[in-house]
Amino acid sequence: MNKIIEIKGLSKSYDGKKDALSSCTFSMDTGKICAVVGESGSGKSTLLRLIAGLERPDSGQIKIKGKIVSDDTLIMPPQHRHVGLVFQDFALFPHLTVAQNITFGLKTNKKETVKRLLQLIKMEDYAHAYPTSLSGGQEQRVAIVRTLALNPELLLLDEPFSNLDAGLKSELRQEIRQIVKKVGTSMIFITHDLYDAIDIADEIILLKDGSILRNSSITDFSKNIQNEEVEKIISDLKSNARRTLELLD
Ligand code: ADP
Ligand code: MG
Repeated sequence: MNKIIEIKGLSKSYDGKKDALSSCTFSMDTGKICAVVGESGSGKSTLLRLIAGLERPDSGQIKIKGKIVSDDTLIMPPQHRHVGLVFQDFALFPHLTVAQNITFGLKTNKKETVKRLLQLIKMEDYAHAYPTSLSGGQEQRVAIVRTLALNPELLLLDEPFSNLDAGLKSELRQEIRQIVKKVGTSMIFITHDLYDAIDIADEIILLKDGSILRNSSITDFSKNIQNEEVEKIISDLKSNARRTLELLD
């Protein structure tokens, strides 16, 4: 199967001493959704920013669709990587309508794109609405299709649910998975909630202190763990997730 992304030995330190990301190696098949899970400061955002080209690695290689976009000799600028990054706070332009937000940066097919993408998120009636009149969930869906309007090969989302309340989250998870699968793009997203990963992703990467502790399919995530530390982290993730569910009931 085609690989959308191949990463080899990727490292990044901000202060020259401690690695924010340390010799990370993984790859992902085209069309898959991967969740990057880890506690605060484990290097999740750094990994996404390196893939997007917003940060320069100290060493290692990144290939997107078989093409090197980052290594010791080459750093391709973000706009040439065919990667779309959705920010945590959605970052919609408040003075532009939903339609104008979606077509911002598009030169052609504006009308058709707005129609197609608003249909996809079942918000056909909101083309002329302003972001302030939208619910958090609507804002998030608009932020995602605004990025999809540019036809990225790979969609990156940094903590897409951190600004949404728990009830809204569970509703949106399935919807996001459906949207992304329908469009057929590949996606990597960050979360610290195991439920997000299980509901949305095909694969999971567990990060700790800048290192990948585990990279598996969702179904294999808690099977055959040979390492006590990983076992402890996964059991903590599970009990945190359970606690969230209890709060909802
Ligand atoms: P996460 O997204 O998992 O919370 P980050 O990738 O943001 O983790 O951070 C990983 C480590 O790098 C942390 O120790 C953090 O303090 C450090 N770090 C992140 N961004 C910067 C920066 N711009 N300057 C200095 N240190 C940073
Ligand atoms: Mg982060």
